[in-house]
Amino acid sequence: MIKKDKLQDYQKKRNFRHSPEPSATEKAKTKKGKMPIFVIQEHHASHLHYDFRLEIDRVLASWAIPKGPSTKPKEKRLAVETEDHPLAYAKFEGTIPEGEYGAGEVLIWDKGKYENQRDISMAKAKKEGKIEIFLHGKKITGSYALIRMDTSKKPKWLLIKRTD
Ligand code: MN
Repeated sequence: MIKKDKLQDYQKKRNFRHSPEPSATEKAKTKKGKMPIFVIQEHHASHLHYDFRLEIDRVLASWAIPKGPSTKPKEKRLAVETEDHPLAYAKFEGTIPEGEYGAGEVLIWDKGKYENQRDISMAKAKKEGKIEIFLHGKKITGSYALIRMDTSKKPKWLLIKRTD
């Protein structure tokens, strides 16, 4: 079950009569017991950035990474937490029209499955501000850490490539 309030911010920011993005009410196919997914979307908004999304409890927890993820061990990248997105967003590619939130082209840069490398749930790890995962993508394979740096309204995290 998806807690509706989790996607309230997402839904509020968008007008689905104008944007081709999936509405939070759109159903995504559920694969229970399967490994959770991740997606990295290249977003040509006013500033090019990469949206990093991890499936956590039936939604996509999301971060905007201005420079995109690094594949070099120990290299840190700023990742600004953004609103949770619906699972269906993992398949989204298209152009958000001018004047809409996040206007610009969205392309899938990489996607795949991931493993939680901590012995607590992903939800707990996110709450704690310390996520450790192994990504199984096409462009990216390896261990990453996400470390929260502050607890503001838009928390800043660091995405760090770990030595595998
Ligand atoms: Mn974005």
